Amino acid sequence: MLSFLTACIVSFSLYTSSYTSQPVEIVQEVPILMYHEIGDPDGPWESLYVSEANFRNQMEYLKSNGYNTITLRDLQKNREGLRRLPPKPIVITFDDGYSSMYSLVYNLFKETGMKGVFYIYPKKFGSWNSLTEEEIKEMSDNGMEIGSHSMSHLNMHKMNKNQLKYEVEESKKILEDITNRPIESFCYPAGRLSESLIEELINAGYTNAVTTKYGIYSHDDNIYKIKRIRINYSDSLNVFINRIS
Ligand SMILES: [Zn+2]
Repeated sequence: MLSFLTACIVSFSLYTSSYTSQPVEIVQEVPILMYHEIGDPDGPWESLYVSEANFRNQMEYLKSNGYNTITLRDLQKNREGLRRLPPKPIVITFDDGYSSMYSLVYNLFKETGMKGVFYIYPKKFGSWNSLTEEEIKEMSDNGMEIGSHSMSHLNMHKMNKNQLKYEVEESKKILEDITNRPIESFCYPAGRLSESLIEELINAGYTNAVTTKYGIYSHDDNIYKIKRIRINYSDSLNVFINRIS
């Protein structure tokens, strides 16, 4: 009887020690990739494109080399000590809400069990190459994170306080109504940020924001000035590998 009780106590303490006393390891550095449109350029903005073939090769490389895609929400929770991250975490972000985000990216991610973060500005809805509200809802329901890219994608350096407030609050509300989830991440249109804009983001309840400044995310950086790694149309697979390592 005594040995049975001892065994119970030992196994109970092993159970509790492995589930309650192990702190969450706070990850110090994570590459955050920045993409816009996937496809071939049909205008002057080649820098906004990555070809479908290159994109598929890049995602295949991440999969077969042990990278695990996470969202910014996962990263935020890890910063707060609330969520463990998988080994070799990486965030993949897409700006501007093109329709290929559903037809190509989301379908590939669904097949391969990957996730991404998609920054949307609601004034784009209804244009010929925009994601639809139904697509955004489905993506959000299936593990993709939706973030705000403002309401109108205009120059936020030229806006007064009321305009900034409208851009960050109204886009958040519209995207929350579509997804039925909190919208917590913001992406500065054309990377234009300011201290007054950051103040509005904090007031509106955003917990982080991404820039177009080049670099790897570091835990020590300001969470409203997150750096990203832009992937270019001309990047070979070797250049891609160098950028993320
Ligand atoms: Zn943009």
